[in-house]
Amino acid sequence: MLLSLLCACQIAAASPPPLTVRVGDRVRSVPVVAHPEGGSALRADLLADALGGKLVDGGAGSWQLELGGAAIRLVLLAPFAVSGEEALPMPSAPFRTGGRVYVPYALATDVLPRAIVGVMFDAPRVELRRMALVTRRPAAPRAVTEASTRASQVAAANAPPMAAAPTTPSARAPARRRTVVVDAGHGGRDPGSLIKLPSGTVPEKTVALAVSLKLRDALQARGVAVVMTRTRDTLIALHDRGPIANRARGDLFVSVHVNAANPNWRNATATRGFETYFLAEAKTEDEARVARMENEAVKFETTTETSRSDPLGFILRDMAQNEHLRESLTLATIMQGSVKAVHPGPNRGVKQAPFSVLVNSFMPSVLVEIGFGSNPAEARWMTSPAEQQKLAEAIADACVEFLAQYERKVGGGEP
Ligand SMILES: [Zn+2]
Repeated sequence: MLLSLLCACQIAAASPPPLTVRVGDRVRSVPVVAHPEGGSALRADLLADALGGKLVDGGAGSWQLELGGAAIRLVLLAPFAVSGEEALPMPSAPFRTGGRVYVPYALATDVLPRAIVGVMFDAPRVELRRMALVTRRPAAPRAVTEASTRASQVAAANAPPMAAAPTTPSARAPARRRTVVVDAGHGGRDPGSLIKLPSGTVPEKTVALAVSLKLRDALQARGVAVVMTRTRDTLIALHDRGPIANRARGDLFVSVHVNAANPNWRNATATRGFETYFLAEAKTEDEARVARMENEAVKFETTTETSRSDPLGFILRDMAQNEHLRESLTLATIMQGSVKAVHPGPNRGVKQAPFSVLVNSFMPSVLVEIGFGSNPAEARWMTSPAEQQKLAEAIADACVEFLAQYERKVGGGEP
């Protein structure tokens, strides 16, 4: 009892600056109070509300913070938050006082950005941000009535971001002939990362092209038109790859890359697995590392080429308006599910980062890191033509499934 009185006093006395919460253009501020165990805390319901979510009382001293399609479970006096099957540690536990539930400040700075796609904490600005997911207008308005268009937009806007329709193993070909733009990463004087084999090294650009050419064939075999950003060992400037995709009037854009572990990591060569990125701000140091690595290609381009555009500045300004964000996220989710069936390594999940190559393509776009060239087993795997073929088929299946799903959503394509 004495303890709870002390809590109340400390909360009343403390007045650190409030936390800014931005959702699209809407800005709220959530008061910050002192946590009885030290550090700061936020009132859970105010935080949930500011993010456009809600706090649901689960009884027995537990609550769910619901946001979009995600739910974060909080338990009184437990210094962790549960997201799916993962327990995310916090420096202190949620507590209750004056009939209100408070959560450690770290829930906003660490847990939510890790657990919920589209949420990030901007430390310099002390701002918690949630991207407003804007739904794309159907590409073929002639084929759909005004009313069904609106209905599908409403349905899409209400769908939880992660709720991709179940992937069928044998994806059907889309109704109208669609175009996929396939981008083989790097090329020419930009080798990308190095894939280490017992017999020597192979540059990333070579494996990316080999997989991309097989992907082209696999897509064409599924009745999908393909435009390649390159078919030979040439350097295409990062900011030109998107415009190539747009000129081709592509329906989606897939960039193929090979990951490399940071050599400073402990056990760097042990890191394995595949991940798919969509365009957004990086949420973790690892995502930022991959983006830096892939964006490095800019240094191989001439100065006039690089000074023409400021892709990252564009991303940061335009992030909230990116109408393809939700679809790119869906595509990335389908991609991971499909590649999982043929890949020996762990599924590292859907990730987000500011990739220059994805900035200028005005269509759902993803970047697939097919594995780590710095891992001996994965290096062997990804340089095997037979494995490349299986991988290409899996990526092609994901593209076709996404196109079919998208057509169902917008009410069918043109015949
Ligand atoms: Zn790369």
